[in-house]
Amino acid sequence: MKVPQTAIFRQQRERFVLRFTCEHCALFERGTKTCAHGYPTREHRLRYYEDPTVPIVFCKDFDLE
Ligand code: SF4
Repeated sequence: MKVPQTAIFRQQRERFVLRFTCEHCALFERGTKTCAHGYPTREHRLRYYEDPTVPIVFCKDFDLE
């Protein structure tokens, strides 16, 4: 699911220390930097959100570690 990344989201992401990217997912293989379920990770990685214009792409399989 893709939703616009608003300024409010960015503020709240910092304020509430939101975790939603692969780096905080139990299924992320740190050695190979891949998803244990084989999903593409590009749009779910922390660095993707360095660009404030990209949409938020929530991963349905995200499992907070
Ligand atoms: S399940 Fe989703 S959030 Fe978790 S590592 Fe795989 S692609 Fe990333």
